[in-house]
Amino acid sequence: MSTDVSSRLFERAQASIPGGVNSPVRAFNSVGGIPRFIDRGEGATLIDVDGNHYIDLVNSWGPLLFGHARREVIEAATAAMLKGSSFGAPTEGEVRLAEQIIDAVPSIEKVRLVNSGTEAGMSAVRLARGATGRDKLLKFVGHYHGHSDALLVAAGSGVATLGIPGSPGVTEGAAKDTILVPWNDEAAVTAAIDLHGDDLAAILCEPVPANMNLVPPAEGFLAFLRAQADRSGAVLVFDEVISGFRLGRGGAQAMHGVVPDITVLGKIVGGGFPLAAFGGRAELMDHLAPDGPVYQAGTLSGNPVAVAAGLAQLELLNDEVYDCLEGATRIVADGFTDAFASAGVRAQVTRHGTLAGIVFSESPLHRYEDVAAADHGAYARLFHAMLDRGVYLAPSGYEVLFSSMALEQPVLARIVEAAGEAAEELAGRPDEAAG
Ligand SMILES: *Cc1c(COP(=O)(O)O)cnc(C)c1O
Repeated sequence: MSTDVSSRLFERAQASIPGGVNSPVRAFNSVGGIPRFIDRGEGATLIDVDGNHYIDLVNSWGPLLFGHARREVIEAATAAMLKGSSFGAPTEGEVRLAEQIIDAVPSIEKVRLVNSGTEAGMSAVRLARGATGRDKLLKFVGHYHGHSDALLVAAGSGVATLGIPGSPGVTEGAAKDTILVPWNDEAAVTAAIDLHGDDLAAILCEPVPANMNLVPPAEGFLAFLRAQADRSGAVLVFDEVISGFRLGRGGAQAMHGVVPDITVLGKIVGGGFPLAAFGGRAELMDHLAPDGPVYQAGTLSGNPVAVAAGLAQLELLNDEVYDCLEGATRIVADGFTDAFASAGVRAQVTRHGTLAGIVFSESPLHRYEDVAAADHGAYARLFHAMLDRGVYLAPSGYEVLFSSMALEQPVLARIVEAAGEAAEELAGRPDEAAG
């Protein structure tokens, strides 16, 4: 597999773009090697500038629920674009997308569209603070809510991958109101709320955390958070940027039957374009300008091209889609589980509905530290063993597997076969794998 063109581009990129990339994890720092520059995507397949084909298990980090260049999505975006790319004035598509989101997500009565998950998370925090008149935030170690100052504290994947504790440039002032607690730890949450409850504007979480690999909530933990938010008067914020429209049309909140006050959406909602959203009860959302005093705005918010793509993707969703996606995720997860077991590789595969993650550790995973303590060098070896066999996993052991509807049976069979060979290679038995 030649990577000459990617190598040359990466070298050139490093002269003009910090680290050669526009988002850190893309640089392959934690797995080593040359990041692949992509030429195009077709369904389940990613094709790089050297002409190598890969089965894609990243799917742009989640947005592409139907794989690359899904016809309905591309046609809708193209049709919108031909009418003009941006107006800075309201359009019908925004109303239709808002109505779709409200119909799908139990907690959302009103929703505002923004351009990225970071922006949505940051705006949700401002709304929670503005509505409660309180300053403090409670967040969980290893949960990622974008890179805004107050939330970039113990923030999982990207930051963990680079081994930076928080980030220089985040002031003490911005971080001092963020209280950190371990995930799945009721006693720690209770203690934090006993201490800070009266000052707490929001409790934020990824209801099914997927930026510290995959560490689902313990039985009853989300309902416990709902009760703690009610006890303290804090706003409960579910960041469903990954889980929204992936675990089901209603996201983690529908799956687990726990309704937050504010929901943050991104990734899938934009159909592969820069679009995200935050929404909640009407009474809360009405604190936003122009009806209320909490300011939030955006020149390109609700961009008609992104809205058209997002709508087109959401309109493809139904129960059958999620059954199919879960089936594909199960085949991939079981394929890796069986491969590790028969090769004697110490790793576990967690699956929660349509999400799955691979962690090189045999200890149970309850919180961030359990994932941090895993063998990330082994993940890097798996990543390259799979890449060599034409399967593109996320280039970090803190990330999850993002399956898509484009993974049809023969493609799934190839993933499972590659997993078997890669596991043998990791176990130091490449000859058997070849035979
Ligand atoms: C990706 C992600 C974000 C940030 O979204 P961007 O569009 O990258 O700014 C926020 N929260 C979660 C849970 C995410 O996975």
